Amino acid sequence: MNKIKLLTEHEAQKIAAGEVVERPVHIVKELIENSIDAGATTITLHIKKAGKQLIRVVDNGCGMSPEDARMCFVHHATSKLTSVDDLMQLNTFGFRGEALASMAAVGKITLITKEADVAEGTQLAIEKNEVIEQKPVACQTGTDIAINDLFYNIPARRKFLRTDETEWRQINQLFQALCFDYPHIHFKLISEGTTVHNCPSADSIATRITQLWQHTGAQQMIELKSDNKQSAATISGMISNHQYSRYDRNQLYFFVNKRWVKNYTLSRALIKGYMNVLPQGKYPAGCIFIDIPTDLVDINIHPRKEEVQFLNPRTIERAISESVKQTLEHNLSSQIKQPVAFSPSYESYAPEQQRPAPFPSDIELPPLNQQPWVYQEQPEPFGPQETITESFEAQQKSLINEQPTTTAPENSFAAGRIIGQHALTYILIERSDGLFVVDQHAAQERILYELFANRFKDLATVSLIFPQMISLSPEDLSLIEPYLSLFTDNGIAIEPFGQDQLIISSTPVHLKNVSLADMVKQAVGWINEQSDTSPEQLFQTLHKKLRAQMACKAAVKAGDSLDMQQMEQLLRDLANTPNNLTCPHGRPTGWLLNTYEIEKRFKRIGK
Ligand code: ADP
Ligand code: MG
Repeated sequence: MNKIKLLTEHEAQKIAAGEVVERPVHIVKELIENSIDAGATTITLHIKKAGKQLIRVVDNGCGMSPEDARMCFVHHATSKLTSVDDLMQLNTFGFRGEALASMAAVGKITLITKEADVAEGTQLAIEKNEVIEQKPVACQTGTDIAINDLFYNIPARRKFLRTDETEWRQINQLFQALCFDYPHIHFKLISEGTTVHNCPSADSIATRITQLWQHTGAQQMIELKSDNKQSAATISGMISNHQYSRYDRNQLYFFVNKRWVKNYTLSRALIKGYMNVLPQGKYPAGCIFIDIPTDLVDINIHPRKEEVQFLNPRTIERAISESVKQTLEHNLSSQIKQPVAFSPSYESYAPEQQRPAPFPSDIELPPLNQQPWVYQEQPEPFGPQETITESFEAQQKSLINEQPTTTAPENSFAAGRIIGQHALTYILIERSDGLFVVDQHAAQERILYELFANRFKDLATVSLIFPQMISLSPEDLSLIEPYLSLFTDNGIAIEPFGQDQLIISSTPVHLKNVSLADMVKQAVGWINEQSDTSPEQLFQTLHKKLRAQMACKAAVKAGDSLDMQQMEQLLRDLANTPNNLTCPHGRPTGWLLNTYEIEKRFKRIGK
């Protein structure tokens, strides 16, 4: 018996359409791109029920004639291309003339559109690919198109839509990406009648970020500094500073030659730049633009052009990680070296002519990992940092003296005297610029991390009288076996013992009282997680993680009592350690309560 039948044209179209527009977010993308192609400067997106009930885009673009308003829903109807030869010259998004035709097959459509130089517009309603109404209408120039009840006629597709939250998140994310990509366009997003984003035309990405991320870190965004000379790509944009983080990667946007792309390795490279700053499992925010000669990138590997392949991905990734790292270091060091926070209350308190002059902008602060904050028993010749502090202090004193009821505290500017230990966790240091508080565990973690990083060959090791035995499953043992040299390189003598045990016979002195079973098991976990990275990358990552772990285990804990000598030693070591502003997990090692803040709290100055 013959089984093959031809589908009716209508059924075939429904199936094909479902492939072009699988989800609400795809429709939103096609519609907004049409508006951009039509030269719109204002685009408003209305959404109901995450797009399942309504997706409506209103623009002030060129509009369509009554004939075009009908024509645009016909398959392969486009104003953007007449022959395949035009393809190379094209600078519009659309060209296939498929989007509107597909939408007409999967939703109920209403269209209102008018060209600039005519009095009347056209209103059109479409259901199941048929025009059910067309009439002249009085309306604004531009196009207002709505897709109602998505997949109302294809229940199987409707079932595959995800939850409202997921579909909405994707729409909101796409909307933001378009806002970043076209800052000159006024975009609005309205969901269930409520305005979610209103972004008037902006002259910079910084302004866009303020419009979009007002409640999600806009104040913590800093400009990405990139002096990358090795790659042909130019990298620019903004990233969050060390104080902002979130638990997902949803606030990371990448644009390659102005096209929004989703690329896992790009975000991984960016996150890598935060390695010493953000704890594991926390992610930054960023909006990064990569401009690269077109012969070094293939942006068309994905049918919706969301993915990208670089000819030299490693160079781009390295350039991103490096720029991020440098930007953060620069930012952190300038924050910590300028202990004065010009808080709004201070600004408003200081009369115009008495406000401290802004710091000279040409002061060169030393890079973070060459000259960290310096703990000084004896004042040393003034470096740039001291110059800044002094000049502020002078200004501050004169400011204080202006106030009849307050006096400048005497002798509070002596540098670096340890006052004591607070809560068996924090070292308190009186400094000329205020009270400096150091977290003893974070500080020692950093010291040991750098020590293990650079000088493990010189580290004294001790043989254990009772070797440590670590039991593992045979699978885990074979998983970790190729990586055991990482432990030996860090002074831990470790070997397989039978099918399911490891034996540790000597360790660095710092680790002699530490149980290493957790560390080994943690390493097995890391290897398991990283199944898609190359072996050499995994080696590097593990090396760093292992050192951070060793440093953490060996470091003094919060709650350990320290005497004066031990505290002095710790601070001296910290001063001589690179990257000493944070611990390897990204927590700060120290924190300054500046004299001005103290004064303010006691209402000696300010309101
Ligand atoms: P494509 O964008 O590939 O040409 P579409 O199906 O998206 O295909 O659109 C078909 C045609 O409809 C476009 O070529 C354009 O002429 C017209 N069109 C669609 N949306 C708009 C709009 N918002 N403003 C003006 N014209 C539009
Ligand atoms: Mg289109």
